[in-house]
Amino acid sequence: MLFDWLFRPRRQEARRELLAEPFPEAWQPFVQCLPFYRALDERGQDRIRDDLRVLVAEKDWEGCGGLEISDEIKVTIAAQASLLLLNIEHEYYKHVGSILVYPSAYKTAPRRDAAGVMREGQANLGEAWQRGPVVLSWDATVHGAVDPKDGHNLVMHEFAHKLDMLDGLADGTPPLESKDQLSKWVRVMSKEYQKLRNAAEQGRATVMDTYGATNPAEFFAVATECFFEKARKLRQRHPSLYACLKDYYHQDPAA
Ligand SMILES: [Zn+2]
Repeated sequence: MLFDWLFRPRRQEARRELLAEPFPEAWQPFVQCLPFYRALDERGQDRIRDDLRVLVAEKDWEGCGGLEISDEIKVTIAAQASLLLLNIEHEYYKHVGSILVYPSAYKTAPRRDAAGVMREGQANLGEAWQRGPVVLSWDATVHGAVDPKDGHNLVMHEFAHKLDMLDGLADGTPPLESKDQLSKWVRVMSKEYQKLRNAAEQGRATVMDTYGATNPAEFFAVATECFFEKARKLRQRHPSLYACLKDYYHQDPAA
C-alpha cells in the first residue's frame, strides 16, 4: 500500500489506545452467542476480542439493500473473521477496506465473462473481491455462525479467500512460512482437490461441500469452513489435508 509506512506509527498508536479501553460490555452477548468463541480458552477469547475491535474500528462497514449496520452485525462478522487470524501473523486483512452487508441473498453486478459477453448478475450470498470489499448477506452470516457443525460458514469462507489473495493471487495458496511448507501444501492440496473433483463428478457425498471442486481458490475456502466446522471428520477422512490446514492456521480444532 502506497505510503503505508507513513501512516503505520499513527495507526499503531490508535490501536494501542483502542485496546487499552475495556471491551464494550454491550458487545459481550454478541460474542458469547458464538459457539466457537465459547469453546476457546481465555487467551483465545482475549485475542478474538482484541482483533475484532480493530476490524470493527478500521474497516468501512456499509449496510446495503436497506440494511442498517449495527454493532451486532459488525461484531458477529469481525469475531468470525478473527478466528482465522488467531494464531497466524497478520495485518488485519489489510487489503479489505470495506465490508458490505446485505439483509439476505443479493444480486451481483452484471459482469463481462471470459468471452467478453455481458452476463446478468446472479443471486449470491457472499463475495470477496481481489483488493476490494468483502460482501456478505446477514441471514447467511447468522446461519453459518450459530450452527458450528454444519460445515458452512460464510464469513470464514469469504475471509479465507482474502487470506488466499494476500500474495496477489486467488489460487488456493495463501502466503506460507517456508519452501517446505509450500511444497507439502502443493502436493497435498492438488491431490485432495482432484479427489473432490472426482467425487463431484460421480455425485458422491463427501465431508467437504463439492462446491470446493469449482477451482483451487474455492477448494481452500471450503476446506477452511470444513476445518473449523467438521474438524474431527476432516481429520479422520482427510488426515493430510487436515494437517496442512493445521500447520497453516496453527490451530487444532479437532483436538
Ligand atoms: Zn468462494
